[in-house]
Amino acid sequence: MGPRIGITGVTRLAGGTERSVVNAAYVYSVTAVGGVPLVLPPQIGPAQVESVLDAVDGVLLTGGEDIEPATYGQRPHPKEDRPDPARDAFEIALFHAAWGRRVPVLAICRGQQLTNVALGGTLWQDLPSQRPGPIIHSHSGARDQRTHRVAVTPNSRLARSLGGIEHRVNSFHHQAIRVLAPGLRVTAHAPDGVIEGVESEAGAPWLLAVQWHPEEFFRDQDASDRGLFETLIREAMRTGALGRAER
Ligand code: MN
Repeated sequence: MGPRIGITGVTRLAGGTERSVVNAAYVYSVTAVGGVPLVLPPQIGPAQVESVLDAVDGVLLTGGEDIEPATYGQRPHPKEDRPDPARDAFEIALFHAAWGRRVPVLAICRGQQLTNVALGGTLWQDLPSQRPGPIIHSHSGARDQRTHRVAVTPNSRLARSLGGIEHRVNSFHHQAIRVLAPGLRVTAHAPDGVIEGVESEAGAPWLLAVQWHPEEFFRDQDASDRGLFETLIREAMRTGALGRAER
């Protein structure tokens, strides 16, 4: 039996119809390592997150639109996406509940930003204008094209998951962590200093987060990015519903 991984979904309008969807790369990345993906659309709503956590062994917070800046006390930058307050509310509640119940969380791109906001940190709202530099973080190439380096902190959860401290990543983000939230530590930087990975301290609820998109390498079974999903599965098996029942 594979551990059940809740994958946060997104709301999209297609032909005037509201749809609950997710990039299948997340789904394939979970099935590739033996997990059972369960998609969690924002329409579930924040009041039901405890029910959700009764049904999953781990949570994958996915990428997507910018988080409403009011959630971290800022006014919107002109380059801000149109926010999805329903998604923000659901995912922030889901993260807090998962943290409280020590359900392991892997957070990707917006997911990393969301965990930082939920724990009291802030974001750069638009890297190109607020923090200009030579590295393009908002790339327009193929989803699995590696375009910049990251330096990973030795002996971190991230380094162990990737099996190394030098990594090349794809990059599709115009926002990033600005003020780091208490309880998190930085475990990867781009060469320009942008935060590319964070995790919780040992002993705290299990959290691993990255700013790049490891799911887009799901077709490459040799990609070290797969290690991020393997480590989530391992932790979900150890501390998931079965593990919780045993305690
Ligand atoms: Mn980047």
